[in-house]
Amino acid sequence: MSKRIGIMGGTFDPIHYGHLVLAEEVLNAFSLDKIYFIPVGKAPHKDEEKADKDMRFQMVQLATITNSNFRALSIEIDCEEVSYTINTVEKLKMGENKDDELFFITGADAILYLDSWMRFEELFSMCSFIAATRPGIDYKNVLEKIEYLKDKYGANIYPIEVPALDISSTEIRDRVRDDRSIKYLVPESVEAYIKKNNLYKKG
Ligand code: NAP
Repeated sequence: MSKRIGIMGGTFDPIHYGHLVLAEEVLNAFSLDKIYFIPVGKAPHKDEEKADKDMRFQMVQLATITNSNFRALSIEIDCEEVSYTINTVEKLKMGENKDDELFFITGADAILYLDSWMRFEELFSMCSFIAATRPGIDYKNVLEKIEYLKDKYGANIYPIEVPALDISSTEIRDRVRDDRSIKYLVPESVEAYIKKNNLYKKG
């Protein structure tokens, strides 16, 4: 039977409770069966990540293992080439998700550049997008872009407001570098992993 699958793409450098709360919200709001967390291997137009890809993936595994609706996938980590979402979606569609409906979950700002993504028109025909916004922030430009992409390309893009969990990976890294606590911002297992591997000490 066809399933509804969410895909959380991102660098996850490191994964934190903001990502996990968002995924849980989306799972319920869109009646999804599962959410796949797929860390970027090599990001399109991006600087170097701070933690290497295997470590970022291990932290995603640690953070998601306690939720049976979440699954960490290494499709992009295992690949040497730049991680383009179209390639990832095609791989999923060629495998066990052949008949499933896919929803790519991303921060709302990414929507502004969606029509510069590799083979974006094909991507629009293969998956829907869920754009996460924070309450209280004016996303008028994002909503206008959603309408534009829908009218011009038939894209399915749904905005969702997530609880005001103002956590970012940048903030986690800054805190670690400055010896400030990251307790309650990341799962304990991820906190222990960062400590054990001496990650983010140099900013
Ligand atoms: P990013 O650098 O990890 O994230 C950019 C911003 O969005 C950060 O503020 C980040 O917060 C937030 N974010 C990251 N993942 C999120 C998620 N799943 N839901 C909500 N917010 C999220 O990543 P990015 O470069 O924007 O890429 C995100 C995804 O889009 C990746 O899977 C990437 O491969 C894909 N993408 C594809 C193309 C393409 O195919 N051409 C181009 C660009 C991006 P934190 O820092 O706190 O995580």
